[in-house]
Amino acid sequence: MDTKNKEGTISKKEFQEIINNLDIGYFKGELNGKLLIHNSAINKIIGIDPSLDLTGSYSSQFSSDPEVLERYHNDLKKNRHVKDFIMKIRNPKGQFLYIQFNSHLIEDGDQLLVEGTVIDVTEKYLLERNLMDTEKKFNLIANNTNDLIAILNQDFEYIFINENAYYSVLGYKKEEVLGKRPREFNHPDDLKRVSNAIKQGLLEGIVQEEFRIKHKDGHYIWVETKGKYLMEDNKLKGVIMISRDITNRKNSEKKIQESERKYRSLFESSTDGIYSADMEGNFIEFNKAFLKMLGYSKEQLLNLNLRQITPSKWYEIEDNMLFTHLAVGESKIYEKEYVQKNGTILPVSVRFWILQDEQDDPYRIWAIVRDITEHKQIEQELIEINKLKSEFLRRASHELKTPLVSIKGFSELILSSYLEDLNPDIISKLGEINSGVERLQNIINDLLQTSRLESADLKPRLIREDLSFLINFCVEELHPLSAKREHSINTEIEDSIITKFEKEEIHDVISNLLLNAIKYTPQGGWIDVRSEIKDDLVIISIEDNGIGFTEEEKGKIFKQFGKVERYGQGLDLGIDGTGLGLYISKRIVESHGGKIWMESEGKNKGSTFYFSLPLLDD
Ligand code: ADP
Repeated sequence: MDTKNKEGTISKKEFQEIINNLDIGYFKGELNGKLLIHNSAINKIIGIDPSLDLTGSYSSQFSSDPEVLERYHNDLKKNRHVKDFIMKIRNPKGQFLYIQFNSHLIEDGDQLLVEGTVIDVTEKYLLERNLMDTEKKFNLIANNTNDLIAILNQDFEYIFINENAYYSVLGYKKEEVLGKRPREFNHPDDLKRVSNAIKQGLLEGIVQEEFRIKHKDGHYIWVETKGKYLMEDNKLKGVIMISRDITNRKNSEKKIQESERKYRSLFESSTDGIYSADMEGNFIEFNKAFLKMLGYSKEQLLNLNLRQITPSKWYEIEDNMLFTHLAVGESKIYEKEYVQKNGTILPVSVRFWILQDEQDDPYRIWAIVRDITEHKQIEQELIEINKLKSEFLRRASHELKTPLVSIKGFSELILSSYLEDLNPDIISKLGEINSGVERLQNIINDLLQTSRLESADLKPRLIREDLSFLINFCVEELHPLSAKREHSINTEIEDSIITKFEKEEIHDVISNLLLNAIKYTPQGGWIDVRSEIKDDLVIISIEDNGIGFTEEEKGKIFKQFGKVERYGQGLDLGIDGTGLGLYISKRIVESHGGKIWMESEGKNKGSTFYFSLPLLDD
């Protein structure tokens, strides 16, 4: 058979031979996609047996996307060729491949055919696409983060910055940064440190440092920078730097340092002892004053426990206190004792706090300790002096009482035995003597009662009584006086208030409050006496519309000799008194486990005196 065609060129077989030796795919086909000729490289590319003849099959059998195939044909018809057209196909094994076509139209007689080459670009295509994806991701991150991202070349000049972040954090535009070097933006004080870090970084390939960068408006921003050196053949190619604005953190660090410094100087210079301990009482920290107070060295005290420097009688009290403190959570101040190194007992006042962790568990005790030796001594001395005073008052009053009895006795005797022999003037003078003596006797009785009430072991003799009966009795008793002053006394008292008290003493309290209300309420005023039962207490109140109290006057009336001078105030009132009445009343009420207090809206606005007593059953 003739091996050459009629033009004298190569035969079909030779042609097939030639194209089979090509390593790129070759095909010829009709415009509808029907394959007329192909080489074995095509078989190889799509992964099928090289001897298999695909002639007669259609391109649509391979294309995975009819739209792409249509575009390919359209391009071809329009331009008569396509260049580097990438088509995704699915091979018989079901794998996807990316094939690149370079095809053109040829005329074969009066028929138009397609001829072209194909190569498998799957790997390259995927790689490029991946790179594109990576770049997209990088841009997305770089444009949306507030971290400053920069790339420097081998000369340490900026060649890339993420402009958004640079603008929002530092106020610079791209063109103000690119081509410059980082050191041009550094704080002068940081330069040395930064350049050392860079040197170190060159050795290690990575650097991390905190420093300041100048903002466009002149102030400095603290950043934490991580730099990665890009090396190639042991030569520096560039640096990638990522910096984070840590100005806020730095500022708060500075504040913490400052307050730590302040706290330290307070801690060390305080004349009060300060310590912290764990919940077992082991010391963690203490100042010099605390060591001095106890006489131990630092090392000695670190090996001791709070218990070991506390007399055992305090253990239970302190345990309870800790317990209630934990429940209530407030700082607490109390007095206790420590044992000094030489065994001496040291009285102190302690204010302590308990710190809790995130789970609200207590983990630390903090305390301020004050040496109160001197204070205790003074307190003791005052107690002694007060005792002496009371003793003096008691004795003096007793001594005064006796001659008064004879003065009163004799003046009464003169009045009764010699009334007819005396002229009215002398009778009236003797009357004055009598009432003067009476007043003096009252004062002496007050003084005696005060000194009696001051003895610490004074306990009232509690007997079941009806308090409402006693109140009504006192009101009746003082009726002549209140009638004389044209007062209206109103009582709103429970029918019977049964509790335990010492009748004579509570009688004195009620009479004193009533008498005061009468004394210090001008002619024609009113006085209301009420009772109220509240939980396990009875509260008695005596209200008047009298001369009331200023704030200053309120402060002293329950104290010894707390008389408020009211001379020259144009009052029609008898203003003699010792200023002991309310003090005595307070002592009595408190010795019964009650309280006494007063309210007044101000001068001439009346006042209300209250006292409470516990309602005792047995
Ligand atoms: P005194 O013996 O002087 O009355 P008290 O201790 O009973 O002593 O009272 C102290 C002071 O309180 C009195 O001097 C008086 O000025 C004032 N005072 C007491 N009760 C009243 C009252 N109801 N209204 C106004 N002032 C009062």
